[in-house]
Amino acid sequence: MTPARKLRIHEKAGGMCGCGCGTPVPVSGPGVIYEHTIPFWMRPDLDDDGPNVKPYATDHSAAKTNGKDGDLSRIAKTKRQKAKNEGTWRKSGHKLQGRGFDKTRTRGFDGKVRDRKR
Ligand SMILES: [Zn+2]
Repeated sequence: MTPARKLRIHEKAGGMCGCGCGTPVPVSGPGVIYEHTIPFWMRPDLDDDGPNVKPYATDHSAAKTNGKDGDLSRIAKTKRQKAKNEGTWRKSGHKLQGRGFDKTRTRGFDGKVRDRKR
C-alpha cells in the first residue's frame, strides 16, 4: 500500500483503530495494519478504497483475524454453509471403497505375498 493511500485511509478513520476501541494508531510502522472491516472474501464488491478499509492496531488486527469468532473462522463457516446449501458438502463415509486385498493370495510371516496353496 502506498504511503499516500495509508494517509488517506488513516485520516478517514480519524486516526483511530478500526475495531472501535478508540485507540489512536500510527499512520505506518509495526503498530498498524490496514485491513478490510468486512473480510474481502465475503464482500469483494465493496470499494477497496472506501470505508471498508481501516487502520487497525496490530494486536487488534490479530484478534479480529484469528480465534473462535475471527474472520478466518467465520469465512470457513460461511464456506461450509454454502457447500451444504448447494448440496456439495461431503462428509467422510462417502469415500470410494478400494477393492481390498486379493483373497486368492496370502502374505507370509516373511512379508512376501504369494498364491494360496490348494
Ligand atoms: Zn482496536
